[in-house]
Amino acid sequence: MSVLDTLDFDNRFTNQLEADAVTANVPRQVRGALFSRVEPTPTAAPSLVAVSNEMLELLGISEEQASSAEFLDMVSGNLVLADMDSFAMRYGGHQFGNWAGQLGDGRAINLGELRTSNNERQTLQLKGAGPTPYSRTADGLAVLRSSVREFLCSEAMFHLGVPTTRALSLALTGDQVMRDMLYDGNPALEPGAVVCRVAPNFIRFGSFELPSFLGEVEVLRSLTDFTIREYYPELWPQTGEATPDTYAAFLAEVVRRTSDMIVHWQRVGFVHGVMNTDNLSILGLTIDYGPYGWLEDYDPDWTPNTTDRHGKRYRFANQAGIGHWNLMKLANALVPLVGDPEILQDAFDQYVTYFRDGHQHMFAGKLGLAEWDADRDDQLMLDLLDLLQAAETDMTLFFRGLAEVSTDDAVASDARFEPLQRAFYLPDEQLTNELRAGWDGWLDRYVARVRSDGTSDGSRREQMNAVNPLYVMRNYLAQLAIDASTKGDHTEVAALLDVMGSPYTEQPGKERFAEKRPDWARTRVGCSMLSCSS
Ligand code: AMP
Ligand code: MG
Repeated sequence: MSVLDTLDFDNRFTNQLEADAVTANVPRQVRGALFSRVEPTPTAAPSLVAVSNEMLELLGISEEQASSAEFLDMVSGNLVLADMDSFAMRYGGHQFGNWAGQLGDGRAINLGELRTSNNERQTLQLKGAGPTPYSRTADGLAVLRSSVREFLCSEAMFHLGVPTTRALSLALTGDQVMRDMLYDGNPALEPGAVVCRVAPNFIRFGSFELPSFLGEVEVLRSLTDFTIREYYPELWPQTGEATPDTYAAFLAEVVRRTSDMIVHWQRVGFVHGVMNTDNLSILGLTIDYGPYGWLEDYDPDWTPNTTDRHGKRYRFANQAGIGHWNLMKLANALVPLVGDPEILQDAFDQYVTYFRDGHQHMFAGKLGLAEWDADRDDQLMLDLLDLLQAAETDMTLFFRGLAEVSTDDAVASDARFEPLQRAFYLPDEQLTNELRAGWDGWLDRYVARVRSDGTSDGSRREQMNAVNPLYVMRNYLAQLAIDASTKGDHTEVAALLDVMGSPYTEQPGKERFAEKRPDWARTRVGCSMLSCSS
C-alpha cells in the first residue's frame, strides 16, 4: 500500500506502440521500435526545491500525498509505482540544420500517463533521472541551474498564455554532477536536480523523422496513427483507417499550432534558443527549456545560446522561418505515408499566410488597435521596431508604458512621452534629440491611428495589458533564484513561481520583478548568454 495508490495510470504510448526488444540499459542504436523501457536511477538524498500547487490540483494529487516521502521519491527517480510503465522515447532530429541521426530521451524518463481529475491523460516525465539507451556518451543527469530555469519558465509561459509543457516539481538529487559550463576546459561539480515535467505527450517532430529516415514505414505509420487517434481525434476517420488526406489534415493542424506557438513567442519576447526538430513538439507546445532567453532590450538578432553565436540560426527574428523549416522536415518525414509529396504541399504552404495573419492580429493587440490595416500598420510596426532597437528599449516595459500613453490633444509631448521613460536602457541624457524626435514623430502617427479606431484610452489600456505582460521570466531573475537556491535558499524560486502566476496583473509589492535588467547582468553568464551545458 502506498499513499499514491489513488493515482490512476493509462499508459497508451507503451500499450499501443512498438517497444524495443532489448531491455539492457546501455547506449545503442535502437531499431524498429518507438521506445525503450527503462527505470530512473535512484539518487543519494533527494529533497524538494519547489512544487507547483496548481499542477498538484490539475493532476488530482492531494496535499497529503504531495507531502509524503513517496511523492518525493516518485518525482526524484526513486520510486516507480506499480501502474507506471517507465520508458525513454526514441527520436532523431535535425540539429542546427543538419541531420543528427538517433537522439532520443537521453536524460528524460517518462513514468506513465496519469488520468487527471478532468479525465485527461498527462504524461509525467523526469528530466535528469539517469541514463537511458539514448544517452550516447552523456550521463543522463541535469544540474540545478538548468532545472530551476526549466521549472520556472515552463510555468511562467503557461500563465502568459503560451502553449507549453509544464512542471510539477523540482528536486535536488543530493548527487553532484560534473559540468563544463562554458565549454572552456573548466569542469566543476554542481548540484544534480530532477524536474518532473508534465504534458499530454512528449512526441517531437524528430520522433517521425527517425523511422522515416530509416525506412521503417510501419513504425512511422503506427506512431502517426496513434498521434492522430489520441491527440487529434477530430481528424481520425470514422472508417478507422487513415487516408493520405488524413495525414495532410494532420500536418495542416501541426502547421497551425506551431505557427500559433511562435506568434506567442514573438508577442512575449521569448527566444527558445535551440529550435532543433527534436525540440519541436507535435502538439505545438514549447518544449525543452535549455539556453532560452527573454528579450530585454529589443534586439531581433539576439540569441541567448552561445553555441549559436556565430550563425545565430535561432535568433528572435528567425524563429518564424525556422518553424517553417522544421515543418518542412516533418512534412518530408510523412511522405512515405502518402506516396506523393504533392498531397502535403498545401498544408505546408499554409504556414506563410497563417503566420502572417496571426502575427498581424497579435501585433494589433500589442498596439491596442481594433484590427490590422496592413496598408497603414505594417510601416507603423516596422518603424517602431527600428526605434526600439535604436534606443535600446526594454520590450516588456515599453508595451506596458505605451498602454499609458495619452491620445488626448491637450497633453504636451513631454507628458505623453513620460510613461515610456523607464523602458530605456540609455540614461536620460543619452536619449539624443534625434532619437526623441523620432519617438515624438512615431507617437504622433500612433495617436492618430488609435483615434481613427475611436477607442478610448481606458479600453485601449485594458486591451493592451491583457496581451503585454508586466512580469516575464527575465534571465537575471532566474539567475538570482539559481544563486539563492544553490546556497540552499529556495524562497526566491517560490517567489518567482508566485509572481509569474499572474503576469498581466500589477502586483503591489512585486515591483522588483518588473524592473529592467540591471547593469551587472548585461554581460553575466546565465543572464545574457547561456551554453547548452545543463
Ligand atoms: P537538447 O539539446 O537538450 O535538446 O539535447 C539533445 C539530445 O542530447 C537529446 O537526445 C538529449 O536527451 C541528449 N542529452 C542532452 N543532455 C544530456 C545528458 N546530460 N545526458 C544524456 N543525454 C543528454
Ligand atoms: Mg531536447
